[in-house]
Amino acid sequence: MTQPVVRFAPSPTGRLHIGNARPALLNALFALNHGGRFILRFDDTDRERSKAEYADAIATDLAWLGIRPDLVVRQSDRTALYDAAADRLRAAGRLYACYETEDELDRRRKRQAARGLPPIYDRAALKLTDEEKRAFEAQGRKPHWRFLLEHRTVEWDDLVRGPCHVDGASLSDPVLIRADGTYLYTLPSVVDDVDLGVTHVIRGEDHVTNTAVQIQIIEALAGPGSAPAFGHHNLLTTASGEGLSKRLGHLSLGSLRDQGIEPLAVDALAVLVGSAEAVRPVRSLEELAQLVDLGRLSRAPARFDEAELHALNAKVLHHLEFADVADRLRELGAPADDRFWLAVRGNCSVFNDVVTWATVARGPVTPVIEDLGFCEAAAALLPPEPWGDETWGAWTRAVAEATGRKGKALFMPLRLALTGLDHGPELKAMLPLIGRERALGRLGGAVA
Ligand code: GLU
Repeated sequence: MTQPVVRFAPSPTGRLHIGNARPALLNALFALNHGGRFILRFDDTDRERSKAEYADAIATDLAWLGIRPDLVVRQSDRTALYDAAADRLRAAGRLYACYETEDELDRRRKRQAARGLPPIYDRAALKLTDEEKRAFEAQGRKPHWRFLLEHRTVEWDDLVRGPCHVDGASLSDPVLIRADGTYLYTLPSVVDDVDLGVTHVIRGEDHVTNTAVQIQIIEALAGPGSAPAFGHHNLLTTASGEGLSKRLGHLSLGSLRDQGIEPLAVDALAVLVGSAEAVRPVRSLEELAQLVDLGRLSRAPARFDEAELHALNAKVLHHLEFADVADRLRELGAPADDRFWLAVRGNCSVFNDVVTWATVARGPVTPVIEDLGFCEAAAALLPPEPWGDETWGAWTRAVAEATGRKGKALFMPLRLALTGLDHGPELKAMLPLIGRERALGRLGGAVA
């Protein structure tokens, strides 16, 4: 295939949440798999609700997920293109002025419902004479503009859902331009997709009907067969099956980041849940890209379970290598040392847990001593340094022999004295990091 071009097109009217991460990532991974380009397009035609702060936050959130757009565009900069397209549609008789108010349309829909008819716009405005239009304008009414759909079946081979078809006659002619002259999402999206050479539109299945309309608009503007490929993925829902909305603030990407969730955990879950692949930890987006196959996404909703994200987060941490985290260890002032990371990663459910284990390694620790005599006996048996992986085994065998203790009665008092905690990484790995001097102090009951 020629170099694919994909886009992620959020409206900057709020923060991204985990459900928005799915189309963002499916597009980014598609580009990664096929050597394609990824465009970030801000759909900011809604002037009132769109905010520059949200656009900035979205760019930051995408960067956090590991997504680097090749191009960023804003629809608010591109109005001239939409105006030109609207003029062409008007000239071709595919965009017509309508003067109904919301109330009038509402009453009409109610009458249709009472007669058991679907609420499809009846195209009354198409029959308006120039004189009637002038009369409306004289009353101060401004037209809104509808696209004249062809009443034919639109077909496409969906990248996710396979062959799809929508009958144009089952849809209302969509409003493309509001009475105040602003554009709804439909036309700008199409114009941009054509202008920016988008080859694959990958988005949520809530857009399936839009696709039928948009294919007709693209063909009206650029000729038959000019539409890109479309793929509509299943949507993430809450565990109980409700849609994720921007109001679920604690599932915003910013909030997950603040909770210490790893971006790779969000990446893996947002992509793999509701796919043919098991949800599993990955070390990189490249690795995740290998697991994505749009054709094998499930058709059922993908249920997002927060507990699963937390469990996956821990697994992601357990799989990271020292090189993946060295800088972050340094930033937190933890030992930037692969022995330390390998010793503690299995005991981190969020990355910041390394701070606890760094304190265990380097102090100060307040030892918990239940039997000072036992601890002092153990201290007397500590071998000289250098210490390595075999030190713990050799030392505890000597302590067992000298004191007659074994199992928990042997190990727990040593753990409590050496770490001040009743749980934590294997002491075999921690003891050399603690070192002889601190170990001696802690076994004697000193804060060290
Ligand atoms: N701004 C639209 C949305 O957020 C984009 C849909 C599309 O990908 O075309 O739903």
